[in-house]
Amino acid sequence: MSGDATRAQNNDSHVHGTDLGGVGAFWGDESTAVRDALTWAVARMARSSDPRSTARPENELAQATGATVVPAGIGSADAMRIFTEVLEPATRAQGHELNLAYIPAAPNRSSVAFDAVTGSANIFGGIWEAGAGGIHAENEVLAWLARLLEWPDTAAGCFVSGGTIGNLSALVAARKRALRRRGARPEGGWTLVYTSGAHSSIATAAEVLDVATAEVPVDDRGHMTGAALREVLERTPSAFAVVTSAGTTNTGVIDDLADVADACAEHDVWMHVDGAYGGAGLLAPSVREQFRGIERADSFIVDPHKWLFAPYDCCALMYRDVGDARDAHAQHASYLSHINREQPNPADLALHLSRRVRGLPLWFGLATHGTDRYRDAIEKTLLTAREVAAGIDRIEHLELLLAPELSVVMFDRPGWDEADYARWCDRLAHDGTMLCVPTLWNGRAVLRVVFVNPDTSASAVLKILDETTR
Ligand SMILES: *Cc1c(COP(=O)(O)O)cnc(C)c1O
Repeated sequence: MSGDATRAQNNDSHVHGTDLGGVGAFWGDESTAVRDALTWAVARMARSSDPRSTARPENELAQATGATVVPAGIGSADAMRIFTEVLEPATRAQGHELNLAYIPAAPNRSSVAFDAVTGSANIFGGIWEAGAGGIHAENEVLAWLARLLEWPDTAAGCFVSGGTIGNLSALVAARKRALRRRGARPEGGWTLVYTSGAHSSIATAAEVLDVATAEVPVDDRGHMTGAALREVLERTPSAFAVVTSAGTTNTGVIDDLADVADACAEHDVWMHVDGAYGGAGLLAPSVREQFRGIERADSFIVDPHKWLFAPYDCCALMYRDVGDARDAHAQHASYLSHINREQPNPADLALHLSRRVRGLPLWFGLATHGTDRYRDAIEKTLLTAREVAAGIDRIEHLELLLAPELSVVMFDRPGWDEADYARWCDRLAHDGTMLCVPTLWNGRAVLRVVFVNPDTSASAVLKILDETTR
């Protein structure tokens, strides 16, 4: 370690009053801006979150901030003040333990802090030659995921911004394989197969790919079954991929993956498993059996920013065999001709080129705490979901609709309609009591809570539910 680096570690001058002379001389002395920004970041990480919804209308925000992007700048002190007083308070802190809406977030502090480290290193993570050290650490995380999937150790992948781009990237590779194996595009074009439980990003992917879609009817609990899939595949020779869910977003149910894998193999179609939310359940022995069949999938995604305790924006995209992904995604141009394609370049595996090494915050969290602790955290949230479901079942004026397979609990308040649910949710959100949003299930308005935070207390949630829905 150089003498300078040692000094920086031995006192906290890297936050307070760093001499940035010589670094980016053109920009002059930025030490105040650097210090204020980093001091704020450290303080923010030490503060707990708030579940309230505090978004404000655009014109109100514009008035409160005034113009900030102006020829002469407003200076870092004013910019920090505006961020602290106006901008950040108008955002929802996703990680509160009583945020149970949509799919919330619950990053641990280590991973949040390392996001700042990742940002400060500004590593180009697109190609190995530029980002080898960072990509190596990301790949160790992906190899761990491959072992959880029980995939061969030739499996590989990369981190992308979210499930939407992960799903799309996997399906682009799937189509490439279908074209390679069948030699030509079917007369009427390709067809993507999925259920009504698939995430909205799948329909978006089909639009972007400009392919037809075929829906597999679900069983009474919302699963894709092998029998229903077979029926669709038999009459859809243009099918190139099946998207199956390992944890649907709305209800958290896992398709019958083993039967789906059989049907996909029989028809030579690519099996993509969307585990953006539920894939984290692979760590948990209590639910692992439900994922049986996933070991035969061709591609898989999981969003660590959902249920793997990492900050935004982070999706792990995995391929059993990266050949078709490379064929589909590697960009070629005269200025890219020197890239060594033998190396594991994340840019070759998804719809991106420049990228930050966004898997590093997850890597640091895993390295800090160990995978056992992550397993325990997942089991804790599963237990919370089961306790809340059992508690709802005992509350006279509430009705449990679906016992949780993972950590989504669906229930209703008989006698209430959609407007009652909306009012109730709004009131709790504005009080900061608890955050949840109603949804539709089998065509009717219902309530839904999702658990991803090991600090959420089942008894606190049940108390709120009981007292506020009488
Ligand atoms: C959230 C989610 C997505 C989309 O992921 P983003 O990271 O929001 O783009 C896709 N599939 C499922 C099952 C999800 O829950």
